[in-house]
Amino acid sequence: MFFVIIRLMLTDQIRNLKNEAIGEILEAKDASEIENTRATFLGRSGKLNQLTKEIPNLALEEKKHLGQLINEVKINIESAIEQSLEKLNVKNFQNKWFDVTLPGIRPEQGHLHLITQAISEITNIFTELGFHRARYPEAEWDWYAFEGLNMSQNHPARDEWETFFIKDLDNKKYGKGVLTPHTSSGQLREMEKYSPPIRMLNIAKCYRRQSDMSHAPMFYQFEGLVVDKNINISHLKGTIDYFTKKYFGPDRKSRIRPFHFQFTEPSFEVDVTCLICHGKGCRTCKQGWMELGGSGMVHPTILKNAGIDPEKYTGFAFGWGVERVMMMKYGIPDIRLLFDGDLRFLKQF
Ligand SMILES: [Zn+2]
Repeated sequence: MFFVIIRLMLTDQIRNLKNEAIGEILEAKDASEIENTRATFLGRSGKLNQLTKEIPNLALEEKKHLGQLINEVKINIESAIEQSLEKLNVKNFQNKWFDVTLPGIRPEQGHLHLITQAISEITNIFTELGFHRARYPEAEWDWYAFEGLNMSQNHPARDEWETFFIKDLDNKKYGKGVLTPHTSSGQLREMEKYSPPIRMLNIAKCYRRQSDMSHAPMFYQFEGLVVDKNINISHLKGTIDYFTKKYFGPDRKSRIRPFHFQFTEPSFEVDVTCLICHGKGCRTCKQGWMELGGSGMVHPTILKNAGIDPEKYTGFAFGWGVERVMMMKYGIPDIRLLFDGDLRFLKQF
């Protein structure tokens, strides 16, 4: 009976303490007042601990009951403190003219460079047609870049490829070292590696001694090579048309017109209808057409050089600039924009 009376007394006192503490917390004007209240009530020699001194002398049942109550009260006071501190924080922000309803600052998110995007787009289009992506050396031998492609030493056709030769690099069998001036050097390497049917897409960096609005000393080309039985010009035209419509859009048209290259016979230049006038003719195009690049049927000598019988197999090839097709697609006026790394430009894509 005695224990019960003490328990009831203590229960009342603990509840009163709780109300007192929460009242003080609600009225506190700043964080230091709140911390003072915390020390007064919850500190080691605080009011709550003073009250609990008598508990150890009570019976087990009473100890349990009061222990639970004290824990609850501690939790209640702590959460009142946290809430008040949070409110004060928000108020402080508002006092500093901080508008909490404003949207936050979005973190900068990067994206792949335009050229990387174009390379994967081009790769996807040709993968749909069964081409496989190949990679061949950028530092190459004369044989693969010229001689093996039907351009013997001192042949005037070499002049078109303003080539960087690598100093003091010479191979008895394959000639001088060069930086690949075109991706066509991959043709012989592909045919040496695989026997027909061949469907190669070689995308690589090329190097030429050139620099103006539409030419850079380093640029990317993508080269297609198909070698199989009964391959003819209509396969080439079909492939060009498929690429044109997939990459530039379904309303764009392509055409081939006769040209000359040493490594194809017959050879063609490929044109696509102009982005601006859609084929009607304007200031930026040639009577409605824009030049995409070269193509043609693989010259029998090149097949022979790679150990493939030109009586049994035929093929076609094309080599176009990655930057060039991008500039034609988006109307980019200067190739150097693609290499400058200017974020004002790059962020537009
Ligand atoms: Zn035009």
